[in-house]
Amino acid sequence: MQQKLNLYNTLTRKKEIFEPLHAPFVGMYLCGPTVYGEPHLGHARSAVTFDVLYRYLKYLKYKVRFVRNITDVGHLQNDADEGEDKIQKIAKAQQIEPMEVVQHYTNIYHRDLEKLNTLPPDIEPRASGHIIEQIEMIKEILDNGFAYEVNGSVYFDVPAYNKDHNYGKLSGRIVEDLMANTRELEGQEEKRSPLDFALWKKASPSHIMRWPSPWSDGFPGWHLECSAMSRKYLGTTFDIHGGGLDLMFPHHECEIAQNQASCDHSDGAKYWVHNNMITVNGQKMGKSLGNFINLSELFSGNHQMLEQAYTPMTVRFFILQAHYRSTLDFSNEALQAARKGYTKLMNGLRVLAKLQYPEEAAAPDEKLNEELLKLTEDCFRGLNDDMNTARTIASLFNLLKKINSLFLGQLQIGSLTRGTFDTVREAYNTLVLDILGLKEEPLGDQEEMLHLVLQFYKEAKESKAYDKVDAIRAELKKQGIVIKDLKTGIDWAYEE
Ligand SMILES: [Zn+2]
Repeated sequence: MQQKLNLYNTLTRKKEIFEPLHAPFVGMYLCGPTVYGEPHLGHARSAVTFDVLYRYLKYLKYKVRFVRNITDVGHLQNDADEGEDKIQKIAKAQQIEPMEVVQHYTNIYHRDLEKLNTLPPDIEPRASGHIIEQIEMIKEILDNGFAYEVNGSVYFDVPAYNKDHNYGKLSGRIVEDLMANTRELEGQEEKRSPLDFALWKKASPSHIMRWPSPWSDGFPGWHLECSAMSRKYLGTTFDIHGGGLDLMFPHHECEIAQNQASCDHSDGAKYWVHNNMITVNGQKMGKSLGNFINLSELFSGNHQMLEQAYTPMTVRFFILQAHYRSTLDFSNEALQAARKGYTKLMNGLRVLAKLQYPEEAAAPDEKLNEELLKLTEDCFRGLNDDMNTARTIASLFNLLKKINSLFLGQLQIGSLTRGTFDTVREAYNTLVLDILGLKEEPLGDQEEMLHLVLQFYKEAKESKAYDKVDAIRAELKKQGIVIKDLKTGIDWAYEE
């Protein structure tokens, strides 16, 4: 297949052919969660989007190093360097250590992402484990004249930087407009300009998470960790930096400014890729807006906005059936439709597994061969077109129509060449399982099914159909289950 992966690069505002800096190696950094609460649907979208990119790059035979951080320090309640540390606030309220909060929510994040079948990153650095690297970077930025110290805190000097750099190159924002629209916040008197952002904050006496530095006992600013950790693990210039669109400004804009102002003199990543937001009735879903649904709530159905529980694969399909750069509106109807789409793809796997190429091929139907190969190619074309999974799924459904016709005998398998047959089967399986990362979910309640079998057993016994009774006993024994005929009724136990 002579197609290449194209990605929309926020930095250049266009789709570009993906060409790694040092093929076959690819470095990819994704902003991970600030672990002070359970992951919600918005987190899932970012995780699943970049999981598919990661999987697809691997499929394309790249050697990918995927780094996704855990923010466990420095993210204040207000992004303008104001308010308490999000994690410390919870720790105080619950009278536990901040690192207990971090561990607790990191575990939940891992648990829920595993349910969504996302692959773990190759490196998962924590901000608190990279204070030395962050201090090092601040020193460089200070030495280069793009930061200043006030009362033990260090701020990035946006106007000084913007003289011969472009603060706003990623987000398209213009410093003059930002200045006009940024109000002076209370407690920001230390900053020379309201656009300046903290690289290091001096800790107040009550602040728990603190480290020594040349300037004060304090903690690093939120934006700095991603600059410091991406360069540590991926180098000063790497291939892909991902994140949600809400991180583009100020977080990623500040990252680029820090990278340029340090000794790297680089934007960091070559391709900046952003997934769009999840909306609820057209409004952004987010913790700060109070209209978010946690993943555990989605999986259990336990939320006032939910009509039922939705399985992880339903949620994954819901995310994938939209292009990652479009907004995705949450509704029960949309999730129910996603369930149908997902089961359709799963049934396709089952049908394909049953299809057998005949011993003797018939005369090849050239048109049909061509058509099937084109449909297969369309699936990949969707992925190559800026990871348009919506298009890929639509193409898979088209392909599936043909597969079902082959299964029902409306089309003859033998009229395909062996090559076409194998290509279609392999592509379908690879796309659904390995690239889209969908998987079969266990059938509903197994114990309920077992009770159904026991009911049949009881009926067979009552009608003295002993051959059936024996057959049911033997089948269940194979599954490690024995039937107990008790005076009180029929029961089952694990075979000892
Ligand atoms: Zn980040």
